[in-house]
Amino acid sequence: MAAAAESDPLLPPARRASMLMDYLGVLRATHPPERAAAIDMGAFRRGLREPLGALLPPAGEPADRFDALRLFDEHGVLRDAVEDLCREHLVPHPALERHWTWGRVRAEQEERRLYETLRRLSPEEYRRARTLLCEHPAGGLRELRRAWDGLWMRFDFFETVSDWPWSRLEGWWYPCPMCRWPMRVVAHGSTVDVRCEAHAARGVHYRCAPGGRGSGPVPLVGTGRAAVAVQGVPATTEHLALTRPVWRYGTLPTLLELALRDALVGLPHTRVGMWPGTVRPDEYDLHIEVTVPGRRRRVWRVDAKAWESTTALAGMLEQRDVLPYALTIVLPDHQADDRHFLTARLRGRRMTVTTVGRLVAAVRAACGAVPR
Ligand SMILES: [Zn+2]
Repeated sequence: MAAAAESDPLLPPARRASMLMDYLGVLRATHPPERAAAIDMGAFRRGLREPLGALLPPAGEPADRFDALRLFDEHGVLRDAVEDLCREHLVPHPALERHWTWGRVRAEQEERRLYETLRRLSPEEYRRARTLLCEHPAGGLRELRRAWDGLWMRFDFFETVSDWPWSRLEGWWYPCPMCRWPMRVVAHGSTVDVRCEAHAARGVHYRCAPGGRGSGPVPLVGTGRAAVAVQGVPATTEHLALTRPVWRYGTLPTLLELALRDALVGLPHTRVGMWPGTVRPDEYDLHIEVTVPGRRRRVWRVDAKAWESTTALAGMLEQRDVLPYALTIVLPDHQADDRHFLTARLRGRRMTVTTVGRLVAAVRAACGAVPR
């Protein structure tokens, strides 16, 4: 909340100061008195722009992974992932709505609503929906209707792109070349950056081309290694995109699963089943089996997760019933450092935790493929 107040250019300075006083009071109350006295307003405001550890009370339980978290990026702009963190940790909604329009639904509720919708589908429809989450997460109304076809009326997870000011650049929006969802437009000083929140780290970022603009979309110049040419799309009420939670908890993990499948197909002695749907469709999404003659059969049942906070993810997974089989939770490669923490939290629940790259290496080793 304090970071949002700090970064909101429209907030009158007096209002900002009084809000920060409130938040400082809340923060101090979490510290032992002798430490609380040492956090003055200057230390508080500086602390917001550094790794959060210095502001947090001494950890009573295993680290919450917040210590290293930064709320602002290198340009002093509030980081995109802060929004997901608030959802995943259920920061109270009315507090969020004072600043943002997005704090409406907690991640878990929306993820559950998505999976309940998916669970009601036949195995065939389920596979189709998972593919559509990746291939048609945003676009023109007519095009989306045609693609989603029979599932369109049952899948009310779309919002109008023109309602999302963060995705608009002079009346246009730009789909990410990897996930096809609207990229974020960030202005700092006289430059405007356009990037996918999930894929910027993999090189999906652009800069707005300077100079003479015609009437069409503002041209973008790629600044990252994966910044292939993208075309602007009009941000009209006729263009829709999946809600943010469905993109994050539906589209992104499905992309991880597809990447895994693509890395494994064609390996010797290896069978990869996508969305087997044999038990309940949402319990695991990828079934990998390696049968080398003369050796023990190896099986992985995989569920990919793309949560921003592994602490919140652990909390959600702990609430699940213990499964009748071993489950492999797969995280994006950039969360490799979190896998030990998550494994420890899930001990006794028949879940192991790995990353896309590590699982591919493990399967290649099991089937005898040469290491890459
Ligand atoms: Zn993307």
